Amino acid sequence: MIDKLAKAARDPGLAWAWAYSRWRPQRAVTRSVALARRAGLRQPHFILSFDCDTDADSAVVGAMHARLRSGGLSPLYAVAGEVLAASADDYRAIAQDGAVFLNHGFRRHAEIDPASGDVASTYFYGAVSRADWQDDIRRGDEAIGDILDQRPNGFRTPHFASFESPRDLVALWQFLSELGYRYSSSTRPLFGLRYGPFFTRAGIIEFPVSGCLSEPGQILDSWGLIRGGDGTSRRLLDELRAYLASMEADQPGLLNIYLDPADVAADEDVLAMLTRFAPYSAGDFASLLGEARHG
Ligand SMILES: [Zn+2]
Repeated sequence: MIDKLAKAARDPGLAWAWAYSRWRPQRAVTRSVALARRAGLRQPHFILSFDCDTDADSAVVGAMHARLRSGGLSPLYAVAGEVLAASADDYRAIAQDGAVFLNHGFRRHAEIDPASGDVASTYFYGAVSRADWQDDIRRGDEAIGDILDQRPNGFRTPHFASFESPRDLVALWQFLSELGYRYSSSTRPLFGLRYGPFFTRAGIIEFPVSGCLSEPGQILDSWGLIRGGDGTSRRLLDELRAYLASMEADQPGLLNIYLDPADVAADEDVLAMLTRFAPYSAGDFASLLGEARHG
């Protein structure tokens, strides 16, 4: 509670967005549509990314990628550098198939408890010095260059909601700008509720991840809805179905979601549901912006 109050004092707009999403979920959804129109989106769009934080993600990523590609999707991948290095061949194969990678830092930031299979978060940018996280971003960039021969232009901070004070975010965007990056997708749905499906700060275009239509402040991801829920994909499927219905009704907007491969790769219901979004797939951030400008 103290932590929540301190956060609210640092960034009152975030507290406002939280209250709004909590008490007026329907109005929050209406607001998202209005902000999408203002951003130039005339149609529904879909961007899918996968965060690969552990070797369990690497073990399933190849087969999952092939399944989604055959369903008409081309996901983005955010892989921590150490995870990338440990399974270089698997990631090289999907990079050669055209997959675009986001820099997701270098150090591992999650570990699996061998007994329970639970995933624990281990490395937070908010808990280390500025020099430390900047070094992590630089090494993450080098890892993608060395291993995949790609020059990333997008970044995702390890762990949502842990590095998002106004000061942290400005420092992050400025640093990414200096490195020559163009995109970041590091913020929670509350930022989308405040500023729209994407917004520019310090030369970086930030794409907040999307929230659930039933609960706009809640990230629509496998971490919260499967691991943090009842352990099944039921809620994830319900939330995706709700988005699909609004997209089929031509509601303008961007559904920008990320999932963890290990949580969904063996779940054919989830994979099949994802491929139903293929008609709306924007691929990457650059093509979405192209659509927004010319839409
Ligand atoms: Zn991660």
